[in-house]
Amino acid sequence: MSRHYDLHSHSLASDGTLSPDRLVRAALSAGVDVLALTDHDTVDGIGEAAASASRAGLQLVPGVEISVSWQSQTVHVLGLGVDPDNPVLRQGLAGLTTFRDWRAEEIGRRLARAGIPGAWEGARRLAQGRIVSRTHFAHYLVEQGHAVSVRAVFRRFLVNNRPGHVSGKWASLEAALGWIQAAGGMAVLAHPARYRMTATKLRRCLGEFRECGGVGMEVVSGSHTPDQVRTMAALCQSQGLLASCGSDYHGPENPWIRLGELPPLPAGCTPVWEGEHWPMQ
Ligand code: AMP
Ligand code: MN
Ligand code: MN
Ligand code: MN
Repeated sequence: MSRHYDLHSHSLASDGTLSPDRLVRAALSAGVDVLALTDHDTVDGIGEAAASASRAGLQLVPGVEISVSWQSQTVHVLGLGVDPDNPVLRQGLAGLTTFRDWRAEEIGRRLARAGIPGAWEGARRLAQGRIVSRTHFAHYLVEQGHAVSVRAVFRRFLVNNRPGHVSGKWASLEAALGWIQAAGGMAVLAHPARYRMTATKLRRCLGEFRECGGVGMEVVSGSHTPDQVRTMAALCQSQGLLASCGSDYHGPENPWIRLGELPPLPAGCTPVWEGEHWPMQ
């Protein structure tokens, strides 16, 4: 019988809203057999998720979604099957956390200048001592009535040319892939159709990604349209990469993205779990 894979999800350890334990149980009820927890720039949720998964009889792929700056743009690289205790990975992620903390303060200062005081404190309260992401700012601004939805906050305040935007200096592609490999993981480019790159630029990005040791890309993603799935499937094959699928689930507040409810990988794509690099048994 074929197994049901969801290889991209978030917990409270980053900007998801379910604890790792509740996320695993939600995945189980959604019929997922193999779930990757891939929080932004942190592996802090993996211990709890792994314990919960072994109780529930689900296979947990320990993962991470690393923020990368490539050609003055942010792209996300998934590390699947990483050892969360690996010191190289942990040190790399610690550097990103330091940048995140500074960026959060800077976002707070900029929003204050735009007439919204207290956003840094509000975002930190929602993050509860864990990493602070723009999603926490968005939830705070919605809570305070500055916008009606998280999407609206991003559009009005948190993206390029908006008052709360701070440009990022995340990991280089080379560094991020080095950490993933050091931790025994497999590198997969997350939601490639979301970067709004031209086809030429995306091919260049994938080329560099492969040169650095990247082996897969998400073809099926909660944020890809059916058209984008077809385009990404063709690109994946022409680039000689393995194909991954993940919902990018952040919690039940976003009802349009559900755990495990993903279309199958298009024919002709080799799934990451059939490649020789697949780090799991
Ligand atoms: P950060 O890593 O702190 O810059 O936050 C990035 C996260 O914000 C992404 O992983 C998404 O969860 C969320 N995000 C980014 N853009 C949007 C958007 N336009 N609408 C809603 N959420 C978004
Ligand atoms: Mn997120
Ligand atoms: Mn992402
Ligand atoms: Mn994600």
